[in-house]
Amino acid sequence: MVRIIDISKDREFLAKLLDRNKLEIDEVNKSVDDILANVRRDKDSALREYTREFDGVVLEDFLVTRQEIEEAIDCTSKALLEDLARARENIEKYHRKQMKNSYSLYEGEDIILGQLVRPIERVGIYIPGGSAAYPSTVLMNAVPARIAGVNEIIMITPPDRNGKVKPSILAAASIAGADKIFKAGGAQGIAALAFGTESIPKVDKITGPGNIYVAMAKKRVMGLVGIDMIAGPSEILIIADQWANPKYIAADLISQAEHDEMAAAILVTDWEPLAAKVAEELEIQLQGLERREIIEKSLESYGAIIITSCLGESVDVANEIAPEHLEVLTRNPFDVYRGVKNAGAIFLGEYSPEPVGDYFAGPNHTLPTSSTSRFSSPLCVDDFIKKTSLIYYSKNALERSKDSIMRIAEEEGLTGHANSIRVRFDSEVSFKEAA
Ligand code: NAD
Repeated sequence: MVRIIDISKDREFLAKLLDRNKLEIDEVNKSVDDILANVRRDKDSALREYTREFDGVVLEDFLVTRQEIEEAIDCTSKALLEDLARARENIEKYHRKQMKNSYSLYEGEDIILGQLVRPIERVGIYIPGGSAAYPSTVLMNAVPARIAGVNEIIMITPPDRNGKVKPSILAAASIAGADKIFKAGGAQGIAALAFGTESIPKVDKITGPGNIYVAMAKKRVMGLVGIDMIAGPSEILIIADQWANPKYIAADLISQAEHDEMAAAILVTDWEPLAAKVAEELEIQLQGLERREIIEKSLESYGAIIITSCLGESVDVANEIAPEHLEVLTRNPFDVYRGVKNAGAIFLGEYSPEPVGDYFAGPNHTLPTSSTSRFSSPLCVDDFIKKTSLIYYSKNALERSKDSIMRIAEEEGLTGHANSIRVRFDSEVSFKEAA
């Protein structure tokens, strides 16, 4: 079911993999453009209509009430509430270290330069709710926003056919501290956050993952509001050597492939006999799994076992793919990870499988997909702050620098800029001359 490739002879799969993330599907684009335009124009009434069409429910009010949240907490098990609270603590502890402070530079009393760090005022977080519920995603988005000091966190998530939101989602929102929660999903929910409706306030930035309609809508409104990233299908790449346990490898590949048919689960190994063992384990572990069909399709389309000539070449392949999740299952993972340049998150050793990071350890699980870890980073506190520069020059300081500033301005042909400096020193003469 899963292809086995000798990388020295076959690079076709790599090309296919790196090409899989083209989000430009014409049909989706057209549909998303219509949804955005209609919600922008008709606001709540368009949102209501799309919620009926895509989520199968007619909603009078989109806002989740206090009573609904309390009922959700009441019907969530005490054990799960405690687990979510522990996860929140870990996420908080990890993200607090990311907090940046404003700073100032002084040159005597003449010059003060600074960088002000300010939270974004109002952030919208999208919590997917189509085929599964993700309370962990609530924590991963809301906790860093809270740490950054965001004034208002507006959460949206699609309702089910009864107009309800899964209790664990609401419980997580309460634990993480979302200010308002609205029942709205898909591109129409993103449109509501970007443009504002009678019910849902316009936000300054939207974060959070979702399906292709959500991703495309975020791409379209980028610029009008800030967005965190365009998330593509999920990925795992495992680097393993002869010390790795095939059972663990198969389980970890499956855990990623079960996300969706487009997910990619890849093993890269320099020990050829491991390929057959893992392939065999995959067959065994697939028996009886609920999401077997999805897993098989994902493994057939984007799954692979790649054989390399040495561990160094395995790391090179990982760097080329730049996976969202990278597990290092080798004898000395702490040596191997130093060679990794591109990955969203690295999981070291056989007792740090991806779910540890997905749910609990503390680092964010919203990670760059589709090879974008070459240039971007996991969701973090930085995504919820912005920086403003501060400049003070005294008269003396400006006088010392005025000729340089004016020369550069004139070189650029911006004589008005040069004049804005000049008038501050010529003004007395000019006034007298004018008189
Ligand atoms: P979703 O909330 O993203 O999408 C559901 C919405 O899609 C519906 O409310 C509907 O409005 C819209 N929709 C469905 N069919 C449509 C159509 N034909 N036309 C227009 N709109 C339509 O939930 P989902 O579908 O379950 O997808 C969630 C995605 O988020 C999955 O791919 C999952 O893997 C991903 N995810 C990623 C992370 C992460 O951190 N990277 C975390 C959780 C989930």
